[in-house]
Amino acid sequence: MTAIRTDWTRAEIAALFDLPFTELLFRAASVHRENHPPEQVQLCTLLSIKTGGCPEDCGYCSQSVKADSGVEATRLMDVQAVLQKAAQAKDNGSQRFCMGAAWRNPKDRDMPAIVEIVKGVRAMGLETCMTLGMLTPKQADMLAEAGLDYYNHNIDSSPEYYERVITTRTMADRLDTLSNVRAAGINVCSGGIVGMGETREDRVGFVHTLATLPQHPESVPVNALVPVKGTVLGDMLADTPMAKIDDIEFVRTVAVARITMPLSMVRLSAGRESMSEATQALCFLAGANSIFTGDKLLTAPNAGDDSDAALFAKLGLTALAQPEPLRACRTPELAE
Ligand code: SF4
Repeated sequence: MTAIRTDWTRAEIAALFDLPFTELLFRAASVHRENHPPEQVQLCTLLSIKTGGCPEDCGYCSQSVKADSGVEATRLMDVQAVLQKAAQAKDNGSQRFCMGAAWRNPKDRDMPAIVEIVKGVRAMGLETCMTLGMLTPKQADMLAEAGLDYYNHNIDSSPEYYERVITTRTMADRLDTLSNVRAAGINVCSGGIVGMGETREDRVGFVHTLATLPQHPESVPVNALVPVKGTVLGDMLADTPMAKIDDIEFVRTVAVARITMPLSMVRLSAGRESMSEATQALCFLAGANSIFTGDKLLTAPNAGDDSDAALFAKLGLTALAQPEPLRACRTPELAE
């Protein structure tokens, strides 16, 4: 097993990014196979349980009220409708069901339905993950009591570049929520987006922030920006198409995340639908071992089950055989 370090320096991470590409890939693939079955990829399904109308101003997001993207705001989905979607995801081979709500933070009045959803999805034998915005310690405890396995809250970018993408909440707010989630005993899912116009140094800072948390996130989603018309970044990058992240640089980011956070599931997330099969294959070689399945993410397009099945067959990849055991649940009726 690889030594787990949380004392990475920026200089060390920058030096990894600077390695010759083949050397970087070799190192990342070595760390990957020391800690994970290299031919297995975790399949996750993502469902938007409350879409649009979000008061935050994340520059990449079509669900912000500040974006002119045509995404219509909906109310929180009915509990039974969510459970139906979870059952479909399970039938399609998903191991984790991730649910996202476009909120700054959940209101106390939303919590009973959220708790019911977590319990219901978990009772199906699926891992549960939620992303609901900022959480108070009390809300994190309620989710832990319900048995939530993972909470997603991305740091998005480096601390320096973050401020250029989001102004309505700070990186410190995000880290507070991650710490509340950790303190409640819920596994942490946290990553970010590359290709937002940031520099290599920002990508170093992004990985550094995650890799020096007191405990690495169990899941690290690495997204490539999907530029959506009507969002600040979508419009900005539409005028500068060359700003799109270079495929090799994207693979480098995945590889550095793998090397610095050896035990984490590194998830190839948004942006995969526009990547070539060869780029995706390089990402898997570099240590990505989790994807979202289905043809839609929260609102952005995704690769789709048929093309994933074809790619897996071509590469000899299989779905992660045995999901890690669900986190011990604190509610007696669901205890394993
Ligand atoms: S990323 Fe999340 S918090 Fe930011 S605007 Fe979109 S839904 Fe809201």
